[in-house]
Amino acid sequence: PEVSDTTGDAQSCISRQQKNAAMDIKKLKREEALEYHAKGRPGKIEVIPTKEAKTQRDLSLAYSPGVAEPCKAIKENPENIYKYTTKGNLVAVISNGTAVLGLGDIGPEASKPVMEGKGVLFKIFADIDVFDIEINEKDPEKFVAIVKSLEPTFGGINLEDIKAPECFYIEEQLRKQLRIPIMHDDQHGTAIISSAALLNALDIQKKKIEKAKFVVNGAGAAAMACVRLYIELGAKYENFIMFDKDGVLHKGRTDLDDLKKKFAVDKPDWDLAKAMKDADVFLGLSVGNVVSKEMIKSMAKNPIVFAMANPDPEISYEDAIAVRKDIIMATGRSDYPNMVNNVLGFPYIFRGALDVRATQINEAMKLAAVKALAELARKPVPDVVNLAYNLKNLTYGPDYIIPKPVDPRLLSTVAPAVAKAAIETGVAQRTIDNWDEYVLELNK
Ligand code: NAP
Ligand code: MG
Repeated sequence: PEVSDTTGDAQSCISRQQKNAAMDIKKLKREEALEYHAKGRPGKIEVIPTKEAKTQRDLSLAYSPGVAEPCKAIKENPENIYKYTTKGNLVAVISNGTAVLGLGDIGPEASKPVMEGKGVLFKIFADIDVFDIEINEKDPEKFVAIVKSLEPTFGGINLEDIKAPECFYIEEQLRKQLRIPIMHDDQHGTAIISSAALLNALDIQKKKIEKAKFVVNGAGAAAMACVRLYIELGAKYENFIMFDKDGVLHKGRTDLDDLKKKFAVDKPDWDLAKAMKDADVFLGLSVGNVVSKEMIKSMAKNPIVFAMANPDPEISYEDAIAVRKDIIMATGRSDYPNMVNNVLGFPYIFRGALDVRATQINEAMKLAAVKALAELARKPVPDVVNLAYNLKNLTYGPDYIIPKPVDPRLLSTVAPAVAKAAIETGVAQRTIDNWDEYVLELNK
């Protein structure tokens, strides 16, 4: 399997020698990645005490007998758990390993490096602590019961890499049953980030979301969440045509689940090529290299193409821009403009939700994150961001529709927007009175 997404463009490697060199690079990356994970203490995270624990006195406070006092205080008032334990800043990243990256159902053990990695991102981007939890359970009912039982420990739960359609039921049940924020990031993270990119792409291409015609390749966890959020933003049901691996979602199909049925059309004989003609937006959340140059050529004026399959997009960036000068193109890759990546969302969404002790992550909070991200991309870019990408003048336009992950303004922009939306919609159990102070605190 691919470990890096920077070695995919093997097209230019014509000679055997060059091919071998490319193979060497891949091998090197693999070895590099394995070495990175193995060196020193294996894995990527550890637990660090936050209180002094050097003297006999410290120890008798940290553990018996002193520890009994916070126990009793929490027993008296459960809210005290936020005062005396890590709960309020602790998120569980939970997977059963059934849909890991593009690697498929590789099992809970093999998913652990990804979940630890997610913990690293939560920590470095939003100072949120994470326990990664890999659960050996595929049955949705049992999985829900296990996760539910973990609620006392955590301030929030990030579900990760759980396969569709089970992920829809699991998240829905947990949202109903738990009183802490919970989000399946593969669904909603992708939906939020791509929505922000979409709003800006539509703005630049001078298209109205209500009128835009969408072709969606893929009807899995990510695609379904994206389409549902685009509809909340104003897109029309009747302007979508969706495909899964068996072709167009049409009314004659008997194999569709309820969610897919909602998008079934009366066009049993349509294929992707036919659907792409005159489409305004192509959304790919399927597999690599299934869209041709001809399809891109046949799209409407000023087309928007989000080819987000990883590591290889539905059509390569080079191929897409070669045939359309008027295109706005986004992928999931860091080596091309407009990377749609969930790291722009989850750290800050959870930061905002935790800080007001939200009981859930609701639609208003997601939409607030979308708006904050879209607006941030329209503002002048700080020098540190240009420097990080070796660029001079990153400015809002076809090649910059979404903020870059290194942008230090993300935390102080997205987290407050999410927190505010939680307060306004009544799901916050704490309020923030001084927003300037809150932002200063975030920037510390
Ligand atoms: P998923 O739940 O497994 O969904 C994959 C979907 O693609 C399924 O609906 C599947 O059809 C469909 N599909 C497979 N082969 C196809 C083909 N040849 N033509 C049309 N549809 C096809 O996976 P996911 O989590 O939604 O992720 C899908 C892809 O998006 C992956 O490549 C993932 O890496 C990428 N992704 C990217 C980002 C990003 O930010 N860039 C975020 C999330 C996901 P069936 O329903 O018939 O199986
Ligand atoms: Mg994931």
